[in-house]
Amino acid sequence: MTPEHFEQGQLVAVLTTQPLDRLLDYKAPEGGVWLGAYVEVPLGPRKVMGVVWGPGKGDYDHSKIRSVIRTLDVAPMRQEMRSFLSKAADYTLTPMPAMLRLATRAPGLGDPPGKRLVYRLGPSRPDRMTAAREKVLAVFEEYGGLSFTLGEVAEMAGVGTSVVKGLVKLGAVAEEEAPRDTPYPPLDPDHGGKDLTPDQAKGAMVLREAVRSGTYGTTLLRGVTGSGKTEVYLEAVAECLRMGRQALVLLPEIALSGEFIDRVEARFGMRPAEWHSGVTSTERRRCWRMVGQGDAQLVVGARSALFLPFRDLGLVVVDEEHDTSYKQEDGVLYNARDMTVLRASLNGAQVVLASATPSLESWANVEAGKYARLDLTSRFGAAVMPKMRAIDMRAEDLPGGQWVSPTLANGVRDRIAKGEQALLFINRRGYAPVTLCRACGHQIGCDHCDARMVEHRFLKRLMCHQCGETKPMPTVCPHCEAEDRLSPVGPGVERLAEEAAVLFPEARIAVLSSDLYGSARALKAHIAEIAEGAADVIIGTQLVAKGHNFPKLTLVGVIDADLGLQGSDLRAAERTFQLMRQVAGRAGRAEAPGEAVLQTFQPEHPVIRAILAGDEEAFWNAEAGERRAAGVPPYGRMAGIVLSSTNSQEVFDLGAAMARQDGPLRRIGAQVYGPAPAPIARVRGRHRVRLLVKAEKSAPLQAALAEWVGQFRLRGELRIQVDIDPQSF
Ligand code: ADP
Ligand code: ZN
Repeated sequence: MTPEHFEQGQLVAVLTTQPLDRLLDYKAPEGGVWLGAYVEVPLGPRKVMGVVWGPGKGDYDHSKIRSVIRTLDVAPMRQEMRSFLSKAADYTLTPMPAMLRLATRAPGLGDPPGKRLVYRLGPSRPDRMTAAREKVLAVFEEYGGLSFTLGEVAEMAGVGTSVVKGLVKLGAVAEEEAPRDTPYPPLDPDHGGKDLTPDQAKGAMVLREAVRSGTYGTTLLRGVTGSGKTEVYLEAVAECLRMGRQALVLLPEIALSGEFIDRVEARFGMRPAEWHSGVTSTERRRCWRMVGQGDAQLVVGARSALFLPFRDLGLVVVDEEHDTSYKQEDGVLYNARDMTVLRASLNGAQVVLASATPSLESWANVEAGKYARLDLTSRFGAAVMPKMRAIDMRAEDLPGGQWVSPTLANGVRDRIAKGEQALLFINRRGYAPVTLCRACGHQIGCDHCDARMVEHRFLKRLMCHQCGETKPMPTVCPHCEAEDRLSPVGPGVERLAEEAAVLFPEARIAVLSSDLYGSARALKAHIAEIAEGAADVIIGTQLVAKGHNFPKLTLVGVIDADLGLQGSDLRAAERTFQLMRQVAGRAGRAEAPGEAVLQTFQPEHPVIRAILAGDEEAFWNAEAGERRAAGVPPYGRMAGIVLSSTNSQEVFDLGAAMARQDGPLRRIGAQVYGPAPAPIARVRGRHRVRLLVKAEKSAPLQAALAEWVGQFRLRGELRIQVDIDPQSF
């Protein structure tokens, strides 16, 4: 048994956030130290943060061992959290210090609570206004009575701190002391519940019972968009609150969560804690600490909220569980959905995975009896799923350089005439995906990546969607120097907007693409306006597929339904199916019945047919059959190993050596494929090569991978990244 408390002078082993491959021994400080305590320890000349992980070894000269400097004033890390971090590290083959960094991403988390200076709107307005002053006051006005730190105000307003200080002198901004890290106001589980439909009531009852059991379990909550899944899982949250345990709701694309927070407030009377990149650093610290001491009952957050130090986590909801943004693609590569299940199983917590189009992984887990399944079969109220049909593009008379078929255009005109909205969907940002020289055939590419530059006409620049590099649109071909021969090829959302303006001259047209708005806030405001009817025709990318309600929208036209089916990626069919269903689900939510049309050159393709038939089970069964036959996830295990270096010879040599020395993998019956250029072969000047490892479901893949990778020394610029369950394979 590990002791819970160490007396002064006893040796403790500390896990730090520094990239070391072992724990470090220290002496417990005056007053002793608790197991799991967050501490500050000396490391060489520096002070670093760490967590007391167990008793020290002390198998060397004790007199050389230094003392813990101080224990931080936060609740010690609980045993469940420590085992969660080690198991997650084992699963993702991530070093422990990197896991600890994920779990401590709150700025200044060890600073004493005390007081801090905050700023709020003052009583008087300055006589002389400047643009900078206007910006500062606008921030306060937007957030009503809220107060912020000096740095936050300056950052949000986009001005220097001196502008704010100047306004304090003039009395337009008030400076005051406020206590740090106050508890979140209590939520009332019985405030504002809705009358549920019989379908919803049954689902809510099942989930409430599961939460009351106080044990681990996972439920897949399925139902088309608008079927009331959110209402149902909020009932599970309510039950969790009644039990005095904490709940977490994970959302993808957290930038769009404003609407969701309002709903939570309407349901529970108060706003929950929020955790995502858009939250101020003060608020992050407060959230982290309050979660740890049990003074935040509900957190709504992005995937990394899963690493908050909950005191007693009773329920985690993963909304839109199929969403690819749950997979973290740099740093620690983890899938928040899978890690949620791991964490919940260690905490005796329930998991609800909600989706209109669940991932094949979750579906397979239901099939295998590991997850329970709850279906909401109808849409709430009178709304029904839109009628779906294909437009066979082979039969449409459409000149080159145009993308909206006459049939679709007529449909749009119809809706405009009725005062309803139509959405034209294309999953491509920018004006055109390719810029081609008509004289020599040259395509403009990124200088640092193996990717084409995409024209963004609003910005008047070319942009690389891999690395974000932009350059001005050239007037002569960089290859043959021909003048004025560069032309756009293929459609992007901006180009489609141009076409729509010609086709529907009387319509108000709005473009929704994530790159067109300065801030998440601006984007959110814009979406809300459009939803209220500020546009007749919406031109949108993937962004519109996610979560927002457009009550007036009754026609969705998918410009290129074949787009996702072309890749060699084995998940392509699943992605296309999900995306098309989600987009179609935007139509006809409330009063008016909706219609969704898919423009396709291959209406006989099985995926297109399954989408049109709305037959999810048929799609799942067909897709599961193919994956099973190929032995790939979720019926087999895979890992991607990406090697990268600025020197292409070096990466290929290492890749070849790894493929040859595959003993540890062969011993578990796994196969290695590659090396081959990674899906993106060059990023920011680094060459990337990928090996794929495939194993049986039951094989001990991680241990074999660790042994295999461990055989190779990484010199110079070489980097290895192991990606368990890669998104594309
Ligand atoms: P989903 O999460 O499945 O997309 P929602 O829970 O968001 O569905 O429900 C869709 C819409 O219907 C929302 O505006 C929601 O407030 C409303 N709604 C759902 N169930 C009820 C109910 N029982 N009573 C009143 N409104 C409801
Ligand atoms: Zn690039």
